[in-house]
Amino acid sequence: MRPLLGLALALALSVAASAQPSETPVALAIHGGAGVIERGSMTPELEAAYRQAIEDALRAGYAVLAGGGSALDAVVAAVLPLEDSDLFNAGRGAVLTAEGAAELDASIMDGATLDAGAIAGVRHVRNPIRAARYVMERSPHVMLAGTGADTFAEAQGLEPVENAYFLTERRREALRRVQERERSSQPTGAREAHERMGTVGAVALDRQGRLAAATSTGGTTNKRFGRVGDSPVIGAGTYADAGCAVSATGTGEYFIRLAVAYAICARMRYLNDPVHAAAAAVVHGDLTALGGDGGVIAMDGAGRVAMPFNTPGMFRGQVDADGNVSVEIYRD
Ligand code: ASP
Repeated sequence: MRPLLGLALALALSVAASAQPSETPVALAIHGGAGVIERGSMTPELEAAYRQAIEDALRAGYAVLAGGGSALDAVVAAVLPLEDSDLFNAGRGAVLTAEGAAELDASIMDGATLDAGAIAGVRHVRNPIRAARYVMERSPHVMLAGTGADTFAEAQGLEPVENAYFLTERRREALRRVQERERSSQPTGAREAHERMGTVGAVALDRQGRLAAATSTGGTTNKRFGRVGDSPVIGAGTYADAGCAVSATGTGEYFIRLAVAYAICARMRYLNDPVHAAAAAVVHGDLTALGGDGGVIAMDGAGRVAMPFNTPGMFRGQVDADGNVSVEIYRD
């Protein structure tokens, strides 16, 4: 009897062990940029449109996770509709360079393998997050920039679009205002700061316990000389490892210097900080002390989410393991 009992026990244990991965709860969080987003500056219609767009993106990403798909597929599925929406500073509706063009940056990272891909300053890729993923999966490189990145994307089958596809009147107007203020050497006002934000990003945990992060942006209004922010810089705007995934938004120059996304994951890994403490320490501590503005979405290996920011608002939302969606915009 004893050996049989032992065998039964061993079998039961191994069944339990093999069942474990599929019991890992899935989780997804996204952001649509941080900045001067205040109740007074939003019409009810615009606010409703933002909420709807964030909810749609969350549902698209969650559908992948609920169907047993990978965290990588989920972050791409969540970012794509945000790139296609002209409400956000990514893909169509991106902010404009000093010459009035759209130059797009994006990155993606697979926490399970530490594989990463990024593109910077592309002008003809409809969905930059797809190109970033192709850099990761189909090239030996991590980051491609400028015309080379556009050429690579086309060679991978991403049909190029005219730069005009990305341009919207709202962003043209924002560029005019920023340039006008610069000419009259007035400081950039809150309105322009609002127009500047809208970077998008996603972090996800799949049923196999794998984390991934993705970020996509047009950068900052009136940028010049091939300026590249943090969003395509692995470790600054995006990072993921086995126990942490981060996507950032804010004035990229600060996020690069503090390696914000990596700093959060490093605190979790080396100091054992819980995700809330790690993200808060970097955003409300180092970033704020350096004078940087913005925020992050961060997730740990159990799907716990932290979304700290030091601006009046950050478009953000999450879906829990049961598919419950929540969307928030303002600080309160
Ligand atoms: N981080 C982006 C950049 O500096 C902009 C943003 O998140 O609003 O390019």
